[in-house]
Amino acid sequence: MTALLQVSGLEVAYGRILALKGLDLEVAPGELVAVIGSNGAGKTTTLKTISGLLRPAAGEVRFEGRSLAGVAPHAIAALGIAHVPEGRKVFATQTVADNLQLGAYLRLRRGEKRAVAASIASMYETFPRLAERRDQLAGTLSGGEQQMLAIARALVSEPKLLLLDEPSMGLAPVVIDEVMRLVERLKQARQVTILLVEQLAYRALEVADRGYVIEQGRIRLSGPARDLLRDEGVRRAYLGST
Ligand code: ATP
Repeated sequence: MTALLQVSGLEVAYGRILALKGLDLEVAPGELVAVIGSNGAGKTTTLKTISGLLRPAAGEVRFEGRSLAGVAPHAIAALGIAHVPEGRKVFATQTVADNLQLGAYLRLRRGEKRAVAASIASMYETFPRLAERRDQLAGTLSGGEQQMLAIARALVSEPKLLLLDEPSMGLAPVVIDEVMRLVERLKQARQVTILLVEQLAYRALEVADRGYVIEQGRIRLSGPARDLLRDEGVRRAYLGST
């Protein structure tokens, strides 16, 4: 497997607390990979380190074979990694349409005005609810709609790798279903590779190709998602309440 993303021996500290203790994972082009684990296991820290918001104390992140050591977050975004953070963070006082334009900021700066318009039109096809609400302020959307907007905004940058941090957070079960089906569809229909971090293990493994189980800053188990769904230890620890 030629990895698109390769994380090896990653150690990340917050002051004296080591949150990641030698974490390894890989994502191949076209894959949908889930990282599951309980509260505080290190999932968010992993994504923040990949997108350059946190610096590792040891280990490295390679993207398309190139080390991201010392590369600034905006430059990492320009290489094709888009991060949808926990809690969505849409621009609440801007309209849906403006949020999508902002997602295309780097492409617009490169002069891709027409191509961006086509990408936004295609987002409105993928997310009809956003099309109906294009002039609505993002802060007035429902939680599920805001999550869709956050994902759509990341996609208009045409990333090679989409990092999704707990898209289910704070959403009602039926809306979670909708978001997960959408993530699965994106993987099938688009040329985007997805690294999905989720506390709702069952939901994530149901749509993923492969999964990693993270515990206390280390990968404890990995494999095809369907094998993890059947694994007795995973079932006991993570699938009980989903
Ligand atoms: P959750 O699902 O609750 O978001 P997580 O798996 O994403 O959990 P992280 O947020 O990556 O976990 O946190 C990993 C560890 O690092 C936890 O022990 C957490 O308390 C600690 N941590 C996270 N952010 C900070 C911070 N800013 N300062 C100090 N410690 C932090």
